[in-house]
Amino acid sequence: MDSACGPPEAMADKREELTPMMGQYHNLCARYDDAIVLFQVGDFYETFCGAAERTARLLELTLTSREDSTGEYPMTGIPVDNAASYVEGLLEAGYRVAIAEQVEEPGESQGVVERAVTRVITPGTLTEDELLSSDDNNFVAAVARDGAQFGLAFLDVSTGDFLATSATDRETIADELSRFSPAEAVVGPDAPAGLLEGDGTRQDCLVTPYDEAAFDLERAAEHVATYFGNPDRLLASDAEIAACGALLSYAEYARGGIAEDVDEESMGADTGTDTSVGADTGTNTGAGTDTDPATDTPLETNTPTLEYLTHLTRYDPREYLLLDAVALRSLELFEPRSVDGHEEATLVGVLDQTASALGGRQLKDWVRRPLLEPAEIEARLDAVDTLRAAVQCREELTTLLRAVYDLERLIGRISRERANARDLQALGDTLLVVPEVRETLCDISDDADRLEELHERLDPLSDVRTLIESAIAPNPPAEITEGGIIAEGYDGDLDDLRATARDGKQWIETLEETERERTGIDSLKVGYTSVHGYYIEVTNPNLEAVPEEYQRRQTLKRAERFVTPELKERESAIIGAEGRADEREYELFCAVRRAVADEVERVQALADAIATLDALCSLATVAAQYDYCRPTIVDGAPELTIEAGRHPVVERTQSSFVPNDTALGSGVGVGVGVGAGVGGMDNGDSDGHDDQRLAIITGPNMSGKSTYMRQVALITLLAQIGSFVPAERATIRPLERIFTRVGASDDIAGGRSTFMIEMDELATILREADERSLVLLDEVGRGTSTADGLAIAQAITEHLHEEVGAMTLFATHHHPLTELADDLGAAFTLHFSAGQEDGEVVFGHTIAPGAATGSYGVEVATAAGVPEAVLERSRALLEGPNDDVTGPSHADTLTAQTATADGGDDPTDLAAELRALEIAHLTPVEALAELDRLQRLLE
Ligand code: ADP
Ligand code: MG
Repeated sequence: MDSACGPPEAMADKREELTPMMGQYHNLCARYDDAIVLFQVGDFYETFCGAAERTARLLELTLTSREDSTGEYPMTGIPVDNAASYVEGLLEAGYRVAIAEQVEEPGESQGVVERAVTRVITPGTLTEDELLSSDDNNFVAAVARDGAQFGLAFLDVSTGDFLATSATDRETIADELSRFSPAEAVVGPDAPAGLLEGDGTRQDCLVTPYDEAAFDLERAAEHVATYFGNPDRLLASDAEIAACGALLSYAEYARGGIAEDVDEESMGADTGTDTSVGADTGTNTGAGTDTDPATDTPLETNTPTLEYLTHLTRYDPREYLLLDAVALRSLELFEPRSVDGHEEATLVGVLDQTASALGGRQLKDWVRRPLLEPAEIEARLDAVDTLRAAVQCREELTTLLRAVYDLERLIGRISRERANARDLQALGDTLLVVPEVRETLCDISDDADRLEELHERLDPLSDVRTLIESAIAPNPPAEITEGGIIAEGYDGDLDDLRATARDGKQWIETLEETERERTGIDSLKVGYTSVHGYYIEVTNPNLEAVPEEYQRRQTLKRAERFVTPELKERESAIIGAEGRADEREYELFCAVRRAVADEVERVQALADAIATLDALCSLATVAAQYDYCRPTIVDGAPELTIEAGRHPVVERTQSSFVPNDTALGSGVGVGVGVGAGVGGMDNGDSDGHDDQRLAIITGPNMSGKSTYMRQVALITLLAQIGSFVPAERATIRPLERIFTRVGASDDIAGGRSTFMIEMDELATILREADERSLVLLDEVGRGTSTADGLAIAQAITEHLHEEVGAMTLFATHHHPLTELADDLGAAFTLHFSAGQEDGEVVFGHTIAPGAATGSYGVEVATAAGVPEAVLERSRALLEGPNDDVTGPSHADTLTAQTATADGGDDPTDLAAELRALEIAHLTPVEALAELDRLQRLLE
C-alpha cells in the first residue's frame, strides 16, 4: 500500500544485525505486508519507521525513536488498554491493522518474548464492540467469478450472519452489494473491474484483493464443507462456492489465521510473497492475553476455527423486492440524502422503535429485503396486527426486551474466547428474561401463527443459564486472570483454596492482638506491603521487649519491622492458595466459557427469535402511534391503490401533511371507490378503459410531486416488509422491483454529466423493468435542452407504456407529455396546483386528475410579486403562437408549457441525429460537445 506497510526498508538493509525483537517486528511486517503491524511491547503497541511516521501523523501521536546497534528508527506507541479508538483512526484512513501480541509472559522463556498476530483488523471483519454500530450489521463481502456467473457472499463476523447468492449480470451483483452495503469487499483475480466503484457500494467500501488460491473452487468447496457440510447441497453455483470459501478463508485470516510462530529462518524466503500463504492453516490463537497458551497449538488445516459460524443462508435476489442503488438512496431508506439531514429523516429512522440491538438489525434486514410472497407478508401482518391491538402486552414485551443484551455478539465473543465473566453474566441475565417474555407472549400467541411459532422458539436455555448462574460470581471484574469471577460453592477445590487463604488472613488479623498480649507492646502493629509482605512493626522505644524469634526485616525512622517464621509460613500459604485459586478460577472460567460456546447454535436461534419479536413489536408500535392501516395484499392482477396515503417520513417533520390517493393497476380506474381526491382517476377514455398504469404528473415546483411519488413507493415497500402503512386504506399486489430516477441531480462529481447519468440510469430501467415494477421518474430529461429532453421523455414514456408495462409515475415539466396520455390507453394525468392567499403562493399539496393548467408558472410569478408588465407579457406569450416563445427556457417557472418539439429549424433532421447518437459509446465530454452542437442547430 505504502511505506506504512510491509517490512521497513531501513531495517531490511540490516536484517542480519537487528536485535531479536526488531527482527521479529521486521518479519511480522513482511508476513502481514498489507497491514500496519501494531507490535506489543509491554503496555504499548509500537510501530516503527514508515508505519510510525504515518501513524503519528494520522493519530496525532508523538513520534519518538528507538536506537539499537544498527541505527535509530522512528517509533510511535499506542497504549494497549486504549487501542480501539486509535485502531479506528487507522481503519478510517484505509489501513488494515495487524495486532501482534505478546503471547507469552516476559521472562517465561529465554530470549525475546514470543509475539504473534492474533488478529488482523479490517473494516469488514470488526468484532470490537467499540468500533461497531450496535444496531447495524457490519458486512464483509466476497465477489467471485466463474465464467459468466458471479458469486457473492456476505458475512458479519460479529454476529455470524452469513449469506450467499449469485447472478449472471453485473447489475444484480451491484444491486445486491448496495443492498448489504458492505464495509469491505474481498475480490479474487477475475473480479470485474469497476463493479465495486459504481453506485453499487457505499463510498467507504474497502476493496481487498485477496489470495487467488482462496477462490479456487476445489479448495473453497472443502472450506465450505468443513463449516457447513456439502456445499453442493447448500449453494447454487460454483461461483457461490468460490465466494463463500474465499470469505471463510479471509475471516480466518482476520482472526490471525497465519499466526503460527514466525520462524526466523523460513521467513526470509517468504518475505513479501503474499498475504494469504497460511490463510488456511488456522492456528487457534483465539484471544491473546486471556487465552491459555496451552490452547494455542496449531490446528489441522480445515478445522473450523470460526465457531460462531453455524449457518449459511443461500438466497435468490428474486425472492425479495429489489431496490437498486439509486432507489435505495433516493427513497432515503437508511441514509438521508442531504449530507446535513438529520438521521431520523429516513424510513428506518421512523420505523425503528426496537428495544434491542438484535431487533434493530432485524428490522433493517427486513427493510433491505422486502418480501414478495403474499402469504409470508400476511403472516407478518397478522403478528403486527395482534401486537398492535394488544397494547399492554406489547408494552410489557418492549420493556422486557430492553433488558436483552446483544446475544449474537455476546455468543460471538464467547466462542472466539474473547468474552470475560461480565459477558457471561450478561448472557445469563438475558436468559433470565426469556421465560417472562414467553409468558407475556403466551397471552396473545394464539392470535397469530407467527407469534405462536416465536413462542415455541423462545428457548430459555435453562441449562446454560443455570451453569452461568452457578459458576459466575455476582458482579465479576472485567479482568479474568485475577480471580473473583467464579462463584462460591461452584468448585470444591476452589472453595478449599479460598478457605485456606481466608483462614490464613484471619490468623493474621488476630495476630496483632495476640502479639500485643504476648509481648506487652501496646503499640505493636501488623501490616502489609506489596514489596515486603506481612510484617510486625514495633516502635523504637519498645524494641527491647521484642521476642527472640522476631527477625528484623526493615528499619524505619521511628520503628523496626519484623517477621516471624510462623508469619512467613502463613503468608506463603495465603499467597500460594491465592495464586492457585486464581489459576483454578481461570481454568474453570475457560471451561464454562467453552461449555457455553458449545451451545452457540441454540443461543443464535434464541437471538433470532428475540430479534424477530422485537422487530414485530416495533412495527406494531409504529402502526399504533402513527395511525397506520393494515394493507390488503392481493395476488393476481397488478394493483396499487392507496386511499389517503401519506409520506411516512415527511409527515413526521411536516406539521400538516395532506394525504393523497393513488390508483394504479388494471381494473382500478373507473368505479373504484378511491377517496375524494382522485375519485375517478379516470384516464379519460369514455369507454371505461380501466387500465391505469402510467401517470404523468405536472404541477409547479414545491407543490408536492416528488413527495407524492416517493410516498407511493414507500407505502408499497412498507406493506411488503409486513408493516402497516400510512394511509386510510391500501391494496397492493407485491412488486418485484422499484426504480426511481431523479433528474437534474447535482452529482457531477463523478465526472459524468448529469444528463449522461440520467440516460445511463434510464437505459437500465428500460432494460430491466417489467410489469411487476414500479418506476418513478422525477423530472428526467431535464439535463439537456428542452426540445431533446422532451423528445427523450416522450420516447421513454411510450416505451414504458407499450413495451415494459411497468406501473409508472412520471413527474415532468414537459407539459406536452400530458397530451400523450390521451393517446396511450393506460396512461393518465394527475396534477398539483398552486394558489395564492394574501399575496403568498400557497400549495394545497392535493393531487387531482388532469393536467396542470400550464399557467401555474405565471400564477406563482404573480404571487411572488413579479411586476405586472412582465406578467402581462408572459400571459400574451402563453396565448400566442408557439414560435413566439422559443426564447430562453426558464422551464422551471415561466414557460413550462411553451417549449415544444417543433422549436427547432428542422426537427426531423434533429430527431434523426439524436436517434443516431450512440450514447453508450460517448465519453462525458463528447456527450456534452454533441449536445452543444445539437442545441446550436436549434438556434
Ligand atoms: P415538487 O417535487 O413538486 O417540487 P416536493 O415534493 O419536493 O415538491 O415538495 C415540496 C415541499 O412541500 C416538501 O418539502 C414538503 O415539505 C411539502 N409537501 C409535499 N407534499 C406535501 C403534502 N402532501 N402535505 C404537506 N406538505 C407537503
Ligand atoms: Mg420535485
